[in-house]
Order: sequence, then C-alpha cells, then structure tokens
Amino acid sequence: MSSKQKFDIAVIGAGPGGYVAAIKGAQMGKKVALIEKEFLGGTCLNVGCIPSKTLLSNASLFHKIKHCEDFGIQIDNVSFNYGKMKERKDQVVSKIRGSLGALLKSNGITVFQGMAQFQSPKELKVKGKDSALIHADKIIIATGSEPIDIPSFPCDHDRILNSTSALELTELPKSIAIIGGGYIGCEFASLFKEFGVEVTIIEALPMIVAAQGKTISDALSSAFKKRGINLKTNTAVEKIEKKKNSLLIHFKGGESLEVDKAIVSVGRRLNPEKLSLENAGLKPGPKGAIEVNDKMETAVPGIYAIGDITAIAMLAHVASHQGIVAAANACGQEAHLHYNAIPAVIFTHPEIAMVGLTKEEAEEKGLNIQVGTFPFQALGKSVATNETDGFAQVISDQQTGEIYGAQVVGHEASAMIAEMALAINNELTLDCVIDTIHAHPTIPEAWLEASLLANETPIHFPPKIKPRG
Ligand SMILES: Cc1cc2nc3c(=O)[nH]c(=O)nc-3n(C[C@H](O)[C@H](O)[C@H](O)COP(=O)(O)OP(=O)(O)OC[C@H]3O[C@@H](n4cnc5c(N)ncnc54)[C@H](O)[C@@H]3O)c2cc1C
Repeated sequence: MSSKQKFDIAVIGAGPGGYVAAIKGAQMGKKVALIEKEFLGGTCLNVGCIPSKTLLSNASLFHKIKHCEDFGIQIDNVSFNYGKMKERKDQVVSKIRGSLGALLKSNGITVFQGMAQFQSPKELKVKGKDSALIHADKIIIATGSEPIDIPSFPCDHDRILNSTSALELTELPKSIAIIGGGYIGCEFASLFKEFGVEVTIIEALPMIVAAQGKTISDALSSAFKKRGINLKTNTAVEKIEKKKNSLLIHFKGGESLEVDKAIVSVGRRLNPEKLSLENAGLKPGPKGAIEVNDKMETAVPGIYAIGDITAIAMLAHVASHQGIVAAANACGQEAHLHYNAIPAVIFTHPEIAMVGLTKEEAEEKGLNIQVGTFPFQALGKSVATNETDGFAQVISDQQTGEIYGAQVVGHEASAMIAEMALAINNELTLDCVIDTIHAHPTIPEAWLEASLLANETPIHFPPKIKPRG
C-alpha cells in the first residue's frame, strides 16, 4: 500500500454522476481524485443508456428501410447481421470511454482503478489495479446501482438474461419473454420486435410503464399491440423451468409460456454494502439508498451522495445534475437541487418523453388545470415525414397558464421534450410558448399547437374539439 495521498475532493464511482462531479470540482480549482472499480462512464456508458440507444438506432434505421416503399424507394432483399450491430455497439462504447479518459486527464483529475472503502469520514482505501490510501476533505459517493436478480430464477446470462447480458447477445432468439414492463424492459421489447423476435412482456402490475402514468401507458400499450408485441399484465412469474432447448415460464395461477430466452428487468438494486459506510458513520436507508438533502449532503458533514445510490430519480442526467450541485457545495458554494422539471424519455418505437406533472398527478394535487393535446396527424412536418402517430400534450394552470407538465408520444419525442423542460424549469406559461415563433415545418410546432389548444384558440385544429386528454 502506497503512502497517504491528499486531495480536496474524492469521488467514488465514475458514472454520469461521479465523473461530472469530478470535472466540476476540478474546474473550481480543486485537487480531485476519481475512483472507479470497473469502467469509466459507469452503467450509463457501458451497460445502460449508450449501448441500448446504439442498438435502438439500428432498429430505427431498419424500420425506416422496411417502410421505404411508402416514400417511393425500393430496396430488395433487405437483411441484417445482429452480430455486426453488437460489434458497432461495442465500438461506440469504447470510443466514448476513450474520450472520457482524455477529458478527465485534461481536467487534471487523478483516476484510481479499484474498489473504494471508507476507513474514516475523510479516508478511503482503494484496492484493485491501483492500491492507495486517500485523504480527502470532501467525499462524493456516486456508486450507482446494479440489475436486481430474482432468487427463484437467477440469471444464468445464457438463457435467463439481465439488462447487462442482454446487450451482449450476438444473435437473436426466435422468442423472448421480458419480465418487467418498466422503461428498460419496454426498450428491449421494442428493439427485438423490430428484428422479428416474438416478444412477450410479462408485468405484475395492471399496466406497463406504470410509473409514467395512464396516458403514456395506454399510448405505448396500444402501439406495442399494433406492432404484435404480446402484453401479459397482472401476471407474476412464479418460476422458470429450463428445458433442453427452451424455457418454460410458469405464472402464478397456473398458465405458462415457452420461449427461447428471457430478460429479467424488474428494477435496480443499490450497492452500498461494499463501501464500509459504518467507518464513515453513515447508515443507508432500508433499500440501501443514501439519504441526502437538496444540497446532496448526507448526514455526515463533508460527505455527499449523488445519482442512483440516492434512489431519487434513477436517470443519468439527474445523476449528472446532482453531481454539479454536490461539487459546487463541496467547493464552498451554495447550490440546491429541485426536481420539478426532470425530463424522462422512453426510447421505444414510438418514442415517449415527459417532464413535470402528468394529468393524474396534477389532479391528485388538486390543481385547476387545462390540457391541450395536439395529434401529430394534424402537423405538416409529421405528414411530410410519414410519422403521424402520437401526440404532444401540455398540462397548465387554468388561471395563470403556468406549464406544469408535458408529455409527447411519437417521432423525435426525445428531442422535443427539451423545450418543455426549459419552460417548466423557468415557470413559463402557455403564452410564452405561443409568443415564441416556432420554425416551420418542424415537429416542435406541436407545442405551439398544443398550447393554443389548451387556450381554446387552436389554429390548425377545429375549435371546441379536444382530441384526447
Ligand atoms: C439498460 C439501461 C438503459 C438505460 N437507459 C437510460 C437512458 O436512456 N437515460 C437515462 O437517463 N438513464 C438510463 N439508464 C439509467 C442510467 O444508466 C443510470 O441512472 C445512471 O448510470 C446512474 O448514474 P450513477 O453515476 O449514479 O451510477 P452508475 O452509472 O451506475 O455508475 C456508478 C459507478 O460506480 C462504480 N462503483 C460502485 N461501487 C464502487 C466502489 N466501492 N469503488 C469504486 N467504484 C465503485 C461502478 O463500477 C460504476 O461504474 C439506463 C440503465 C440501464 C441499465
């Protein structure tokens, strides 16, 4: 073990929370250590957002090619090689990982490769490729989360997969069961269905993507059913029987389903056990989450926690934002985090994105709201690009017009949501959107039209007809 090395800030975990916090700390003139036990970029870059969206981009291109005759383009004998798609995914991940390493170096951050454990509130022991004893005035915990394994049918990563091993497939099965209809499970369903796999989503709750509310769940369920994805809601898996060449999935209540492979996608578990938090005087909550205030401070002065390990909103951009706030506070500034304008995207076909309150949430809070829902069928750009499925919806205050929430289902939803995140974060009103000149013909014009509809002054929609919502 080398002698004690001193830093102003030490960050544990180099996911989108940790590496962003490290860069922010270094930018503010601090000497920063970043400790990572596996790969720079964490879950998001290596086994989460980036690899899954890389594969989904193949699916979206394949979808376009399959429908190119609608545009007068003929391509005969279209085929694909999933192994090559997986190779491209690996190349994308390793390219970004390389750039991230260079970025950290250019910011003067010292990266340690190894597992960090608390020795005291200001001391960490690093064990792994690098061995070190680190003393830091401020420590930021950003250790993320891992896929949950179910003891009665644990993943063997061959036929019973989790989200990590599902990204490693080099060829596709004929049929797959996705256990868990949250956003990660639905993205895998969308990906595999595009390439002709028989997909069944098994969800214990009455609806898929339940966390995103009924409007979104209904829209995705009907789009999935149209695409031939089988949905088994209100269905819990009891056990999985391994046959010679298949899996027999037994449901509680008697029924069963035979498939080639299964992906278990039932949530993420937190991993504070190996940190020896007791040496820092920190006690995680019942499910392993580290509690923080809006400055990302834990109960122990000088120790901060960010990202999935806080279990506040398990999204990469939330982790990064929390990282900025934690680093600013660790550097002596006063920064606070509020969560009323967190965008979330489901990268299925169709894409889905939302920010702020859903209609149900606004009603539950007793808010007096107006809803404007504009269907893409009525938008010039959508018709021109043959992407007319879906809608953009704005939830706003009946009196003041303040925008509380927005949801969008359809083409470019992931890019569309940024405008509404900006609006909600800055407490803007429908009039702010209406007074903003939107370029024509573009998909974001749907926000202008949805805002006009909420105001009951539609231009490109018949008056007094409210299509949805
Ligand atoms: C399949 C999938 C798709 C996803 N898609 C999206 C998406 O499209 N958009 C989105 O916003 N989010 C997405 N997510 C979620 C997103 O990946 C996480 O919310 C995000 O990575 C959390 O960031 P983090 O920094 O908190 O932790 P992580 O990214 O999990 O990073 C934590 C890091 O800490 C390291 N570590 C843990 N313990 C120690 C220790 N003791 N010592 C040293 N290092 C340690 C780990 O090795 C890891 O690298 C997806 C997740 C999955 C699984």
